[in-house]
Amino acid sequence: MNAIRPNSAMARDIAFHIHQQTDLKAHKEQGGTLFTKGDGIHVFDENGKEYIEGMAGLWCASLGFSEKRLAEAAYKQLLQLPYYHTFFGNGHTLATDLAEKLISMAPVKMSKVLFQCSGSECNDAAVKLIWYYHNAIGKPEKKKIIGRERGYHGNTIASVSISGQPHMRAGFDIPLPGFVHTDNPNYYRGHEEGETEEQFSDRMAANLEKLILAEGPETVAAFFGEPVQGGGGALTPPRTYWAKIQAVLKKYDVLFVADEVICGFGRTGNMWGSQTYDLQPDMLSCAKALTASYQPLSALMISEKIYEAMVKQSETHGSFGHGFTYGAHPVACAVALETQKIYEERDIVGHVKAVSPAFLGGLEKFSQHPLVGDVRGVGLIAGVELMADGAKRVPFPAARKVGNLVMAKAADHGLIVRAIGDRIAFTPPLIITEAEIAEMLSRFGKALDDAYAVLK
Ligand code: PLP
Repeated sequence: MNAIRPNSAMARDIAFHIHQQTDLKAHKEQGGTLFTKGDGIHVFDENGKEYIEGMAGLWCASLGFSEKRLAEAAYKQLLQLPYYHTFFGNGHTLATDLAEKLISMAPVKMSKVLFQCSGSECNDAAVKLIWYYHNAIGKPEKKKIIGRERGYHGNTIASVSISGQPHMRAGFDIPLPGFVHTDNPNYYRGHEEGETEEQFSDRMAANLEKLILAEGPETVAAFFGEPVQGGGGALTPPRTYWAKIQAVLKKYDVLFVADEVICGFGRTGNMWGSQTYDLQPDMLSCAKALTASYQPLSALMISEKIYEAMVKQSETHGSFGHGFTYGAHPVACAVALETQKIYEERDIVGHVKAVSPAFLGGLEKFSQHPLVGDVRGVGLIAGVELMADGAKRVPFPAARKVGNLVMAKAADHGLIVRAIGDRIAFTPPLIITEAEIAEMLSRFGKALDDAYAVLK
């Protein structure tokens, strides 16, 4: 770590800026990295060092970091109508067009779209609508929300309460009452000796059923799940998991919210993770790749039965009392419409399908590496489990922070990946080519070798 020069950008950053999801003490002492430029799948720091962004930022910059058409769409809209809201029946045609577009693309029949600014707000709004809905249909006791351990749905007070991330609860008095959690479906780490993926999924579904029965089915309103868990470690579901979980939800009349904030728009090799895993959600939240992350925007799609109940609420309460100043921001909507146009013109889903074997096959080769216990992924999302003994599933002591070590070594070699404990996540921009995948994996191999040399 270089010494921090007085009055440098880093010194001023430490002096004035609070970083999110950051060890504040470590940052105060050592600083971090400031980025100044993007080009395709690459970003450059303030010293001009180039990195492959193997995480597309926060699983989100689907079209990379230099798509001019999105900059132009934003600029054009800034000149035309830089702001308008959607309160009191007002709005703008960009939100109309985008809502129509999303409904036409939805993986299951959806009826309406509510736009917010972030994935967190989207899931937060979903909780409110779930409560509003159950009040409208005369089931005011049906309010509890089920999330999963290590699931991630955002950072507002409700969305982080749905999430199961221990470090986001610690010190915050989270979760709120009424938010409960079922198992994390990490087959590799969690299966018992001899238990198949199917049997593991049976156990996950049985435990969900036990939880619903213990809470009282008449009090359980909804279950939130990411088709592939992102913040839980880029964790693909074990075989038959989703079919079994959905059957339990149906049995107890529990609404299913598919959180497609990461999986939506091609990440899993289909437009939606719900298509990859045959999900039938009542609500779907999406964000991130909706605008390729060039603007903050999220969309909550809801089914007709929920919308009808909301309309009925107007008879009781008048106005639908929910809204944000920047929800459905016209500049964000313009960028989202252009993003969707680009996805279609460049067949982004076809591209993900085409390059996925090089990505997953290349990563799979690292299962032979002495630090690696398991590699799993789908489309262009994958996780690599770092283990002291992969075959025997012996983890490293958490205090050794092996994931952070590999992440730091990767950065030395010009690759940004994410360590989630000792699981390394990859979600490169969806535009990545096979040649770029080869370069990304070569840098990762060097990082693993360097980390192994330190740990040996
Ligand atoms: N849901 C999922 C699955 C996410 O991965 C994230 C963020 O990473 C969120 C919700 C929250 O989105 P945001 O950070 O835009 O609030």
